[in-house]
Amino acid sequence: MDKKRRISIIGSTGSIGTQALEVIEKLQDKFEIIALAGGNNIELLKQQAEKFKPKYIYAQKDIKINGIKSLTSLDEIAQNQENDIILVACSGKIGLKPTLKAIENGIDIALANKETLVMAGDIVMKKAKENGVKIIPVDSEHCAIHQCIKDISQVEKLIITASGGPFLHKSIEEIKTATVKEALAHPRWNMGKKITVDSATLMNKGLEIIEAHHLFGMDYDDIEVVIHPQSIAHSAIEYKDGSVIAQLGLPSMHIPIQYAISYPERFEGIKSKSFSFSEIARLDFEKPDFEKFPTVKLAYRAGKMGGSATACLNAANEEAVFAFLDGKINLYQIYEITKEIFDNHKVIQTPTIDEIFEVDEKIRLQTKELIEKITQK
Ligand code: MG
Repeated sequence: MDKKRRISIIGSTGSIGTQALEVIEKLQDKFEIIALAGGNNIELLKQQAEKFKPKYIYAQKDIKINGIKSLTSLDEIAQNQENDIILVACSGKIGLKPTLKAIENGIDIALANKETLVMAGDIVMKKAKENGVKIIPVDSEHCAIHQCIKDISQVEKLIITASGGPFLHKSIEEIKTATVKEALAHPRWNMGKKITVDSATLMNKGLEIIEAHHLFGMDYDDIEVVIHPQSIAHSAIEYKDGSVIAQLGLPSMHIPIQYAISYPERFEGIKSKSFSFSEIARLDFEKPDFEKFPTVKLAYRAGKMGGSATACLNAANEEAVFAFLDGKINLYQIYEITKEIFDNHKVIQTPTIDEIFEVDEKIRLQTKELIEKITQK
């Protein structure tokens, strides 16, 4: 039997992490879990550890399980040469430092954490290249593109599909008065709260454009977004000769997770129902309405500016999303607030990783202050 692939999961209790463990449960002869790291959901992390018996465990709070060594930092996972691959499945900026550390240690990355590339894509991709580390995207669109590309030098453009979220055909007025519950009712994907709100404003697509730029080294002008409400075509590429290759499948995060942690192999594991074109019958595509969903334009702008601009965009948007989830602002204000903060940001052209974290902190503070100001009126 082939050697098992040794894997650690950072963020094992989140939406991607739990689905990754469902994949690994089906592929127990293929994977050995080195470490599981979770945040505050200690109960779930304990259950996972008892079931999957990793060698190490890490939580933000104290955790003790018989026979499993507790770690005191995520860096201990990222430095551990027992790993063949680390799945970075946590959300937020917490994923960035351990990802960089793992790259420095030559460990391949299955990357589900968007912030890593949105905040510091230039640094991360440069380090990965220097260290010969593979970064395999878990995000379904990028995973699709990864599957389509044979030779990136022959690719003319990337076509990223977007379901359009729950407000696709709603008016701006309806978007403004949308409740948290409506925003969290995504028609196609079941995900964490932050990313679901980002999908409702289309900022998620904006962040994905930035991710794609870094992962595949494409110019922003050669990355296109198309609305595809059925979420069957997960994204596509167009070659120089006009040939278009798309990756299709039923919407399920198990498949891209499994692809990323198994690459370059493909395992049966969790297999989606056999695909039937005739059952699906139709696929629709339409142009995104950037007037109604201006977040995408803002993301293109930030991406093209480069440097610290995308870290600023990310931080302002995230704080605004939290304020929306807290009932402080309406859905459309997420964009308005993010834009105001972004317009006032002085971009650092080639920031160090510390400068990126400084920008992140400063922008979060400014965004919270702006939200305070607006909501006190
Ligand atoms: Mg996605």
